[in-house]
Amino acid sequence: MATTSVRDIHRRGLMLVLSSPSGAGKTTISRRLLERDTGIAMSVSVTTRPMRPGETHGVDYYFVSQDEFDRMAAAGELLEYARVFNNCYGTPREMVEAKLSEGRDVLFDIDWQGTQQVAEKAREDLVSIFVLPPSGEELERRLHTRAQDSAEVIAHRMAKASDEISHWAEYDYVIVNTDVEESVASVQAILRAERLKRRRQVGLSGFVRGVQESLR
Ligand code: 5GP
Repeated sequence: MATTSVRDIHRRGLMLVLSSPSGAGKTTISRRLLERDTGIAMSVSVTTRPMRPGETHGVDYYFVSQDEFDRMAAAGELLEYARVFNNCYGTPREMVEAKLSEGRDVLFDIDWQGTQQVAEKAREDLVSIFVLPPSGEELERRLHTRAQDSAEVIAHRMAKASDEISHWAEYDYVIVNTDVEESVASVQAILRAERLKRRRQVGLSGFVRGVQESLR
C-alpha cells in the first residue's frame, strides 16, 4: 500500500571512509566532523600496535595482542583487516552492522587496503574520500611537529606516504587539505549529497506512489 507520509522515508546508513598518508590531517577532520554531525558514529578499530601517549583504549583503538587479533580475524569478527607499518589493524564487524541497520552512518579511518576490502563487500554502502596534504614538504613538517613517534618511525612513515598516495585514484572523492575548516565543510557537503542518493532513501517509491494517487 502506498503511503503519503514523508515520515515513512527512512535512510539506509552509509560507510564513509577517510584515507590519507599519516600527517595529512585526517584525524582532525574526523574529530570535527563527529562533533558537528550526530548522525555519524566512528568505527573504533582493533590494533596490535602499542598505545601512544594520550590514546585511550576503546576510544582511539581497541589495543589487542597478536593472538587476540588472529583469533578475531579467523572467527570472521573483522569486516576488513590489514598490516600497516608492521602492525595489524582491523574493523570489528558487529558495531558497524548495528549502526547501519539503525540508519546511522559510520566513519572509518582506514588505509587503502581496508578500503578495497570494504568496496568488495559493500560497494553500494561505501563513500570513500582520500585526503591529500598540500605538499610533500608540508606533510614532512606535520609528521615532525606531531612528535609522538620516534625519528625512525617518522622516516618509515615518510617512505610509506608515497605508497599510500599512489592509491588516490581508487577513491570517490579527493580533498587537498590546505585549510582544515574548508576540508570539514567539503566532507559535510559530500555527506549531505550522498545521504540524498535515491537508493539510500528507503520507502521513497511508496511515498511517490502515494503522492501520485492523491493527484488522481
Ligand atoms: P596509526 O597507527 O597512525 O593510528 O594508523 C596507521 C594507519 O593505519 C592509518 O593509515 C590508518 O588509516 C590505518 N588504520 C587504522 N585502523 C585501521 C583499520 O581498522 N583497518 C585498516 N585497513 N587500516 C587501519
